[in-house]
Amino acid sequence: MSELLFIEGGRVIDPAGGVDGVRTVVVRDGTIAEVAERVERPRDVRALDARGRWVTPGFVDLHVHLREPGQEYKETVATGARAAVAGGFTTIVAMPNTRPVNDNASVTELVLARAAAAGLARVLPVGCISRGQAGEELAEYGELKGAGCVALSDDGKPVASSSLMRRALEYAKAFGLPLAVHEEDPGLVGKGVMNEGPAATRLGLKGSPPQAEEVMVLRDIALAELTGGRVHFQHVSAAGSVRAIREAKRRGVRVTAEATPHHLTLTDEDLAASGYDTDYKMAPPLRSAEDVRAVREGLADGTIDCIATDHAPHSKVEKDLEFDAALNGIVGLETAFPVCLALARTGVLSERRLVEAMTASPARAFGLAAGTLARGAPADLAVLDPAAEWVVDPGRLHSKSGNTPWKGRRLTGRCTHALVGGRLVFGEGKADR
Ligand SMILES: [Zn+2]
Repeated sequence: MSELLFIEGGRVIDPAGGVDGVRTVVVRDGTIAEVAERVERPRDVRALDARGRWVTPGFVDLHVHLREPGQEYKETVATGARAAVAGGFTTIVAMPNTRPVNDNASVTELVLARAAAAGLARVLPVGCISRGQAGEELAEYGELKGAGCVALSDDGKPVASSSLMRRALEYAKAFGLPLAVHEEDPGLVGKGVMNEGPAATRLGLKGSPPQAEEVMVLRDIALAELTGGRVHFQHVSAAGSVRAIREAKRRGVRVTAEATPHHLTLTDEDLAASGYDTDYKMAPPLRSAEDVRAVREGLADGTIDCIATDHAPHSKVEKDLEFDAALNGIVGLETAFPVCLALARTGVLSERRLVEAMTASPARAFGLAAGTLARGAPADLAVLDPAAEWVVDPGRLHSKSGNTPWKGRRLTGRCTHALVGGRLVFGEGKADR
């Protein structure tokens, strides 16, 4: 006897399948059996009433820090996966800058085992580009891929050496793995803790220019061209980077890019207005209004493929410090949808493009079998209430950490249910905490 679930009455938005309209989604034995306008539901078959809601493929986040192994006081694989499904994310890609770093099969296997035990979002590990993330020798890409890594990254740090980057691209190409890169030229960043500009001058904080990112983006476009390798630009923040990526894509260079909800919506002036709030400190930093405009345009026209959160949990001890000393990064999984939905509300991008940038586009960038409601695909999906208003209370997030600049803010839009492989992993009928 097969197990059936009907999700009825919702507005199904599945950009990969070209669907946008009220449909019934039929889930059978963990996979999508049908998405149709009219389907007769047999008596005694379970139904989820999605009227007034959106039904989308589960979101895919290419950039998440889960902190396990090594810094479980900030986040574990299980708590991160719980925050993910609470935010509508059913697939998350875990960065390797744990302690120890994920540069070998045993760390990859541990992350996968913890994710399987949690049984929430799918967690896909990323291996290091360089051994120990030291930027000196290449890690073993065959071993990492064999263990289950879907990409390579030294995220948190740039790959400073151009020759190492070249060899990494050549080596990764043999395994079909993309390189996800954190682009900040260490020399240009120097001791900068925020964006260089009038806001930094007023605050008396050291700044680093957007060109610190742009020069490395330009270098890696050149190296992608040289090697034929795949480069994915993480957390793009600068207008010059968007321009360079747009031009490279036009020429057919194999590059993809992501932008974070914060780089799409906040500026260095917001940081200034916050009064040295370290929940506005991240790397790359919040930039000028002009940069934000360029990143938004890039997302709307597809230069920037997708939205990724760069979910970076830190404890209070690491954030309640003076600005110079506080660690970089914010949590993002539970606020990404409402923060980005506001962009659609103000006409920056269409609702369809918003959903695409959180589902089909990230899946395509990393070649993942996710982000679609096609018949036969795993039933990974999110039910979202686009009208739900809520106030962000850091103490009530599912993440272990509450470092968010949206604390105390009223947001509109919330995930009400998430299914992974047809299983309800978040929502009514499920213990929330
Ligand atoms: Zn980064």
